[in-house]
Amino acid sequence: MSNLEKEPLEVVERPGPRLAGHLELLEPREVPLGGPRAMSVRRTLPQRSRSLIGAWCFVDHYGPDLVSARGGMVVPPHPHTGLQTVSWLFSGEIDHRDSVGSHAPVRPGELNLMTAGSGVSHSELSTLTTTVIHGAQLWLALPEGSRHIAPAFEHYAPPAVEIGGATVRVFIGSLAGSTSPALAFSPLVGAQVDVAPFAAIHLAVNPAFEHGVLLDSGSLSVDGEDVPVAHLAYREPGASVLRIEAGADGARLLLIGGAPFGEQIIMWWNFIGRTHDEIVRFRDEWQADVVAGARDDGRFGRVTGYVGQPLPAPELPGVRLKLRG
Ligand code: MN
Repeated sequence: MSNLEKEPLEVVERPGPRLAGHLELLEPREVPLGGPRAMSVRRTLPQRSRSLIGAWCFVDHYGPDLVSARGGMVVPPHPHTGLQTVSWLFSGEIDHRDSVGSHAPVRPGELNLMTAGSGVSHSELSTLTTTVIHGAQLWLALPEGSRHIAPAFEHYAPPAVEIGGATVRVFIGSLAGSTSPALAFSPLVGAQVDVAPFAAIHLAVNPAFEHGVLLDSGSLSVDGEDVPVAHLAYREPGASVLRIEAGADGARLLLIGGAPFGEQIIMWWNFIGRTHDEIVRFRDEWQADVVAGARDDGRFGRVTGYVGQPLPAPELPGVRLKLRG
């Protein structure tokens, strides 16, 4: 997915994080994806009060949206650097094409992981048979030692692991005895957890990790504190168990976590870098090589099979981009 905010650097000013006990509740904000009948996403990361949870640096949650009403997902070729995109669906299907040469469907319960490394471009379109689109896209920041690697694409369908009151699908990292083979570049975890109605589970987690719980649907408390739908509850490192309880409808949630990233990054539009000048260079190369069509063998390669024009980058702000995190 692409970040189409007009001011992609600036994070909307909000009141500070709402504290619920020792949890921090990150509220979603609506961000349109662009286009005439644009679908919008609920973004809970980054925000002013928090840029990262482990290496997780971007959390967009969307749907369920009727494609007939809102046009579905139509994201033309756009670039990424210095990150991995994690595509995860609850319903619908997305057609993914990238400059590595991958052409793959994104399906519910199956991970599509694209490692941008030094640079990649991709397009995402909901398929013609998709009537309802519902899912999340998350980004992982690559640490300094890995952020210039060659781009890559992986697919993984995790098994559904029953842990008594909940079903866990671990798409990256390890949890509940399930380990994903997906390539991660810092210690982290990501999983879908479906909690049965009125079930209370004690989920063993890595105490060195900070965690975020995004409630997709149902009703949920984490460590005794209610988490509203579409909110991301943040818990700092230190405890080895997350207490998760569902209400009458059960709860479907995404759990993300990781070792505190420990590096500052610059996120602007679809790029992650370390300096203002580096981001300017990424933007210039995208505009010259791909948008203006100068070459197919540049940093961002070329997405083949997509009918239509690539997304031009927004204008850079008039001030120098700042490190965050
Ligand atoms: Mn993208």
